[in-house]
Amino acid sequence: MNKPSDVFIVAIDGYSSCGKSTLARQLARRFGWVYVDTGAMYRATTLYLMQHNISPEDSGDIEKALQNIRVSFKNIQGVNTTFLNDQNVEADIRSLDISSRVSEVAAIPQVRRKMVDLQKNMATPPGLVMDGRDIGTVVFPHAQLKIFLTADPDIRSKRRYNELKQQENNNVTLQEIKKNILHRDTIDTQRKDSPLTQAEDAILIDNSLLSIDEQLELACRLVKEKMSQKDTDTPC
Ligand code: C5P
Repeated sequence: MNKPSDVFIVAIDGYSSCGKSTLARQLARRFGWVYVDTGAMYRATTLYLMQHNISPEDSGDIEKALQNIRVSFKNIQGVNTTFLNDQNVEADIRSLDISSRVSEVAAIPQVRRKMVDLQKNMATPPGLVMDGRDIGTVVFPHAQLKIFLTADPDIRSKRRYNELKQQENNNVTLQEIKKNILHRDTIDTQRKDSPLTQAEDAILIDNSLLSIDEQLELACRLVKEKMSQKDTDTPC
């Protein structure tokens, strides 16, 4: 594992569908760093359990399943793409069906333990941008920059709706999306194991009224500020 000081880590946490992945991906690209979407790891795990008819309540079967789950990412034509045991599952894991079950699976302590271990090993110099729900609190509590992203639930639902509407055969309604977002927020903030919460040293950004570009520029400024602080903190 790389020493945390070798890698500039940006931890982005926040509520469902508030643009964490968009910001994390763009920020990583801007600085030439690695980007990891941890939500995709929980989504792929949920897909595996569904494919194998494993109930989230069956801890014995979950333990066995976790040994057979391998999630990886590949950049395909500029798109960060999720693979489950070498199968491209990027489209499958974004369905409302997976979205409606993933938070129950992500609340299982065995699942979290495995994902967090994998995530801790993804820090690669010179930098990493990771987004999720527990990155600044559990995965990288010493991250150089922590951002906690939020936005009005109606705005989040509308953005997600517009995104899904562009996909073929997608008849999902705005009401269904809002219900799912609020359902996930409730489970994510109330679960016993590493609930979603703003780390004390995280910077809160409400992007309800920010464009994607404005949000990126704000985050870039924060990275540069932290980097210059790090330089002055380092003894010559
Ligand atoms: O980020 P995304 O919405 O794709 O995440 C899907 C779900 O995975 C979240 O609603 C949450 O339940 C879970 N998750 C988590 N911890 C993370 C990332 C995601 O519990 N670090």
